[in-house]
Amino acid sequence: MKRVLFIIAAILIIVVSLGFYKISDSREFQFFGVIISRFITPDKVVALTFDDGPSKIFTDRILNILSNENVKATFYLTGNGIKDDFDDAKKIVKAGHDIGNHTYSHKRMALKSWNFVKSEIENTEKLIRELGYIGEITFRPPHCKKLLILPYYLNKVNKKTITWNLEPDSIDKISENSNEMVKYVLKNIEPGSIILMHVMYKSREASICALPQIIQKLKKRGYSFLTITELLNKYYNSQSRIKQTDIKP
Ligand SMILES: [Zn+2]
Repeated sequence: MKRVLFIIAAILIIVVSLGFYKISDSREFQFFGVIISRFITPDKVVALTFDDGPSKIFTDRILNILSNENVKATFYLTGNGIKDDFDDAKKIVKAGHDIGNHTYSHKRMALKSWNFVKSEIENTEKLIRELGYIGEITFRPPHCKKLLILPYYLNKVNKKTITWNLEPDSIDKISENSNEMVKYVLKNIEPGSIILMHVMYKSREASICALPQIIQKLKKRGYSFLTITELLNKYYNSQSRIKQTDIKP
């Protein structure tokens, strides 16, 4: 009997742990506060978001691409990145792009303590303000990892979690092929999509090459590019918003 109870308990623990693990990864659900992976709208609008950085080598290149296309994007920067490349981060703000908080040290945040979470977010926030950025600062968890303490803290300080619904350069099969990434985005794009790309690394040359093509081809299809705060103001903060949690799988 004892043996049976032990097995049942072990199975339960495994099932619950797997459930929590799955939830900690979810782009559409967290236990507290607001999480948005896509804006629900019939309008052909899309957000370009870039994680990590800035970077001494790539910031100018990305800013040039965006400026040539007359597109504003959202950069989820880390505190460490801003501290190391403060002038590059400042250039992003000066060019009129959105800045989001991507933690200070880019650690997985699912099982971190309250004090750790608080200091990671507050210290990064302070640096973002020192850049001269005055807009709303949304949050994106590194590797999308969050469980209880992080969402609880974010909710308490009224900060929204922004994830994504398209991530072309995280799909192994296509991450080194810019044409395939462009095709993937065109195939899967929906109004209100949030695209995530990593363009601040040497290893992500294919992503940087794909970027102008993605912008041009989406423009041809009638899409316009808004920052996350523009989308929030238009489709979330306004009275007439459609329920953002009503996201199709
Ligand atoms: Zn990241």
